[in-house]
Amino acid sequence: MSPREASPPLIRTRVADAADPPVAARMAEVRGVVQGVGFRPFVWRLAARYGLAGWVRNRDGVVEILAEGPEASLEAFGWALVQEAPSLATVEEVRWAPRPTGFLAGFVVEQSLEATEPGSSGLPLVTPAPPTCSARLRELLHPPDRRYRYPFINCTECGPRFTIIEALPYDRVRTSMRAFPMCADCAREYEDPTDRRFHAEPVACPMCGPHLTLRDSPGWGPHPGDPIVEAAEMLRQGAIVAVKGLGGFHLACDATNEAAVARLRHRKTRPDKPFAVMVASPAWAGEFFDPSPDELRALSSWRAPIVLMPDRGLLASSVAPGHKRQGAMLPSTPLHHLLVREADRPLVMTSGNRSDEPICVTDDDAPALWNRRCLPRPRPGDRRSLRRLGGHGAGRHLPRGSKGSKLRPGRTASP
Ligand SMILES: [Zn+2]
Ligand SMILES: [Zn+2]
Repeated sequence: MSPREASPPLIRTRVADAADPPVAARMAEVRGVVQGVGFRPFVWRLAARYGLAGWVRNRDGVVEILAEGPEASLEAFGWALVQEAPSLATVEEVRWAPRPTGFLAGFVVEQSLEATEPGSSGLPLVTPAPPTCSARLRELLHPPDRRYRYPFINCTECGPRFTIIEALPYDRVRTSMRAFPMCADCAREYEDPTDRRFHAEPVACPMCGPHLTLRDSPGWGPHPGDPIVEAAEMLRQGAIVAVKGLGGFHLACDATNEAAVARLRHRKTRPDKPFAVMVASPAWAGEFFDPSPDELRALSSWRAPIVLMPDRGLLASSVAPGHKRQGAMLPSTPLHHLLVREADRPLVMTSGNRSDEPICVTDDDAPALWNRRCLPRPRPGDRRSLRRLGGHGAGRHLPRGSKGSKLRPGRTASP
C-alpha cells in the first residue's frame, strides 16, 4: 500500500482550554519499508518544520519517534509523516501513544536500539539498492565535483543497502562500510540534516571510501591505469569483462560486436536465450532501439527494469536471435554508468554464471569460471577483497530483478 493510500495516523484532537499544558508528547512506531530509505532525515526535517522537540531512531525493523510540541503541530506532523514519506518508503502503519512531556530541547537522530540479525523480526527490512538517483548521477559526471567518476557514490535515495548490512537496525556501524572511517568532508555531509547524505550510511568519497581494481590474466594481478578506462578499452576490443556489482559478478561485452557476443554465448553455454543490453541513457535507447513513449518511461523508472523494445538492427544478431524485441536497461549503479559511457557503446550485461548454475559472487570463483578479464567491485566496506583477490565475496546479494525476496521495494516513483 502506498503512503498516500495508507490510513492516516489516528490522532485525537481535543479542544484546548486555559488549563491545558502548553505542550503534549507522543511516541510513534512507524512500520513498513522505513529503514535505508532516508526516513530518519525526513522525520528530522518534519520536526524542524513544525518546531517539535524529541528524537527519532531505528529499532529493529521499525522507526520510533518521540515528538513533543503543541497539539496542532503534533497533528500536522503526524499527517505529514504519512503523506510526505520519502519516495522509496512504504509506510504501512503508524502506532501512536501518549507520553508524559519531558520538556525536551531540540530534535535529534538517536542511536539505534537492539542490533539483531536481518530478518529476525519478520518485518520488512530495507529496500534493495535503488539505482543511482539523478542528483548523484550529475555529481558523478561533473568534473569539478569531489566525487567525479567515483564509482561508489550514493545518498539516502540511492546506493547499496542490503548488500552491506550485517545486522539491523540499519546504521553504518552494522554495515561493512564501518571499515571505512569517513573523512571530514563526508562526516560533515553525514551530520548535516539539510544534506541529502544526512545519515546515508554508505556515504564515501575517493578520499575515504573503497576503490576499484581491474585484474587481468596472466596471474590476475592488478592492471595498471584507470580501471574504468582500461576495462572500457578491453570491451571495445571485443573482450568479455566480469564486473563485480552489488549482486555478484556480471559479464559484459560489446553488444554491437558479433564475435564477442557469440563467444559470450559459448562460454555461458547459452545458445539462444536473449541477452539484455545496457544503454547509458534514454537518448541511447532511442538511438539503438525504437521504443514507444511508454517503453521509454518504463525504462527510466527508479527500479531500472529490463524493458523489451524493438531494436534498430544496430546490435549484434546474437544478442537476441529470432526475437523482434530486445531487452534494454539503464545502468543501476555508478560503476555501470561509468563503464558503459566510457565504452561508448551498448553492452550486453548478463549474470556471471554458466546457464543453470548460480551466479558467481566471490573473487575466487570468477577467474576459474571465466578465465577472462575481471573487474572486481568489492563489497563496499571490504578493503581486504581489494588487496588480495579471493577475499570475502559479495555475500548476501540481491541481483537485479530477483524474485521472491523478503525485501520489498517502496512504491514506484515517477520516472
Ligand atoms: Zn542518490
Ligand atoms: Zn570521504
